[in-house]
Amino acid sequence: MQNPALSILSNDGTVRGFIINSRELVQNAFELHQTAPVVTAALGRLLSAAVMMGKTLKNPGDLITLQIEGEGPVKTLLATAGANGNVKGYARNPLVDIPLKSNGKLDVSGAVGPGFLTVLRDNGTGEPYVSRTALVSGEIAEDITGYYAQSEQTPSICALGVLVDRDYTVKSSGGFLIQLMPGAEEATICRLEENLQKFQNVSALFEYTSNEEIAQMLMDQIPFHITEQWNAAYYCNCSKKRTEKVLLSLGRQELMQLIQEQKPVELCCHFCNRKYQFSRKELEALLIEGAEK
Ligand SMILES: [Zn+2]
Repeated sequence: MQNPALSILSNDGTVRGFIINSRELVQNAFELHQTAPVVTAALGRLLSAAVMMGKTLKNPGDLITLQIEGEGPVKTLLATAGANGNVKGYARNPLVDIPLKSNGKLDVSGAVGPGFLTVLRDNGTGEPYVSRTALVSGEIAEDITGYYAQSEQTPSICALGVLVDRDYTVKSSGGFLIQLMPGAEEATICRLEENLQKFQNVSALFEYTSNEEIAQMLMDQIPFHITEQWNAAYYCNCSKKRTEKVLLSLGRQELMQLIQEQKPVELCCHFCNRKYQFSRKELEALLIEGAEK
């Protein structure tokens, strides 16, 4: 499996968790977006979080979108995931070059800066559920933990790490999300906190440790079982048909202006860089289609 992942549950049902080794999909994102190392790490963390949070969605067609808007040079990071393990994302500014932190690590919080995390949950019927929280640190994992505490009142611990190699490729990447369900006993919580102390360097963790081993470490002395073994992927479902909708959403005025400019229009997908061209004829057909609606 390319991006192996696990969903786990304590036997008493009060602790659930998700663990993902996301190296392949973060490498895919790096190849698509040609991100600088600090952005590879920032976007990789967000993609890893989104794909795990996608697993908390109730219906197969539901989508979750995480958007980080910060004052730092990367400006906006966005990741969208489904309940099926598919995820896609982009960074507004992929080429951020800032010094490493004093401990030699990539300065993700410096690239992101202070700002906000917006979480949109869309079940395809009407308005999505939107929640906006201030970033805790800009390191992303803490911001996800903060979101769950503030918006969902679900005590959670999120840990994320991306290790970028010297040639800028992704050496390792992964994360976990542990959540307390109602009724968790004090002893379980204490045990969990103790177990979490073992995780100092999450970036390097996924290089040599399997998801199963990480699950054992996290749930040491807490009886648990694996509820699902699944596979995540970087996947974009864009198409010319969907791109037509974007053009239609511009409105009649804008569309007419594009036609008057007499040039073919090219739209590029933010998520996968696929390009869609529309001839003048196609634009005119869209204008008629738009008028009929
Ligand atoms: Zn696309």
